[in-house]
Amino acid sequence: MEELVSRIQKDGNVLGEGVLKVDSFVTHQVDPELMEKIGARFAEVFTESGITKVVTIEASGIAPALYAAKQLDVPMIFARKAKSLTMDEELLTSSVYSFTKQVTSTISISRKFLNNEDKVLIIDDFLANGQAAKGLIELCRQAGAQVEGVGIVIEKSFQDGRQLLEDMGIRVVSLARIASLADGEVAFREADA
Ligand code: 5GP
Repeated sequence: MEELVSRIQKDGNVLGEGVLKVDSFVTHQVDPELMEKIGARFAEVFTESGITKVVTIEASGIAPALYAAKQLDVPMIFARKAKSLTMDEELLTSSVYSFTKQVTSTISISRKFLNNEDKVLIIDDFLANGQAAKGLIELCRQAGAQVEGVGIVIEKSFQDGRQLLEDMGIRVVSLARIASLADGEVAFREADA
């Protein structure tokens, strides 16, 4: 997605350790116009897949996921990283190791929101080693739901996430694909959409 690539070139900052900071438009301050276009692009790509739910993980996945869900006219569910006192129902849970925070957390979704008739589109802001997406796929599978694909805003293609997901038989669609963050420079490769 050209507009996203241009915005990363303009406003993205490379931190050490292969991390891209996009806090002025994705992960802290959010650009609603860009997010709406990102959501619309995911909806367009998955329009024939019969999606019934869009699933993401708090916090930065919520904005693109919500716009995709709006376009597809289906609910958006975000997995929670901390158990809320109000989550008193049966939960689907899995463990996720966070690439940026370097801690393992338990993510959960109330069982009542996913069932074996659902066709799910998973969305997240970044794909690095694939742990967040894998955790979300596990939650969907626990509910017997079918994962139709994973939509990623920014994929770091020099990490193993895409391979991990494709080995699980999952279709991955990334709107920006980063080949390298070496020497403080963002090098792109061709995106999926
Ligand atoms: P994974 O689970 O694929 O290893 O990492 C994906 C998660 O880690 C995303 O949900 C995102 O929050 C975070 N993440 C991974 N790499 C980066 C990065 O380079 N920049 C930012 N801002 N977040 C990242």
